This record gives sequence, structure tokens and C-alpha cells, in this order.
Amino acid sequence: MTGYDLSRFVDLTEDQKNEMLCGICLAILKSPVDTICGHTFCCNCINEWLNQYNESCPQCRHYLSPIFFNSKPYIDSTKRFRNLIEKLRIKCDFADKGCEEVLELGLLRKHLLKCQFNECNHDLKFGFVFFNFLINFVFSQKWSTIGMDSNERQRNATT
Ligand SMILES: [Zn+2]
Ligand SMILES: [Zn+2]
Ligand SMILES: [Zn+2]
Repeated sequence: MTGYDLSRFVDLTEDQKNEMLCGICLAILKSPVDTICGHTFCCNCINEWLNQYNESCPQCRHYLSPIFFNSKPYIDSTKRFRNLIEKLRIKCDFADKGCEEVLELGLLRKHLLKCQFNECNHDLKFGFVFFNFLINFVFSQKWSTIGMDSNERQRNATT
């Protein structure tokens, strides 16, 4: 799983593109991390890179190796930088299936869980339809009871 494809962003500026691009997958950073040489990559991208026995930064060739046994030569990017990425406006994963939703990247995961174009949500949709049916049923029962009451009241008034 690599970064977010550039074509999915609706109003990305050149500056944002330059600042938030992963040098390995050439997409917008997903879970960005900073190497000890100061370069930023998706966590998955740099992990994959290092797992292929590469020992240097793909951008500047700085030697990258674990500082201690089992430690990583990178740390999570700052929260501020991650927040900036989360504010970018992106199209839904299922845009090609017909979803027209455009939302902040930080809200994407929540949307995908209820996106009606997500094949995996069919159970959810059925549940929702059933729930709606139930609510409507309860309300219609209630309204017909009220209707009966007023009829009865009218009848009482005329006698
Ligand atoms: Zn990447
Ligand atoms: Zn570097
Ligand atoms: Zn969607």
C-alpha cells in the first residue's frame, strides 16, 4: 500500500505537491516518516525499500541503518505536517464507481466505511434500509393512532 494518487486531489497547489510527495511512490505521503537525513517518505515505502536490503536514502544516498538493534532509521513526521496532509481535499476511493464525494483526507476513512459504492458495505446498507423501514413503520402506526383519536374526539363533539 503506497501513497495517494495525485489525480485524486481536486485543488492541490504546486507547493503542496512538492512538499507532500513521497520520493519513492511519487504519490501524496501516507503515514509520513522522516529519515535521519531529513527526507520524508510513506512509512510503507521506506520500510519496503529498507527490507530490500537497501542501506541508503533513496533521495540523497545517506547511509541508513538501524541505530540500535531493531530500531528504525526514521521517526514519524511531526503532527503539524501530518495535519496539513489530512486537510488536503481528495476524491473518494470509489469515484470511478460513481461516488461524487470530495472530502478532507482526514475524513476519508470514516466516509469509506459508509460509502454506498463500497462493495464491502452492502450488509451495512441493508441494515440501514431495514432500520429506516422500522422507523417509518413505528411512526406510521403512531400517526394512525393520533388520526383515530381526533376522529373520536370529533364524534364526541358532535354528539
Ligand atoms: Zn510512498
Ligand atoms: Zn535522505
Ligand atoms: Zn464514496
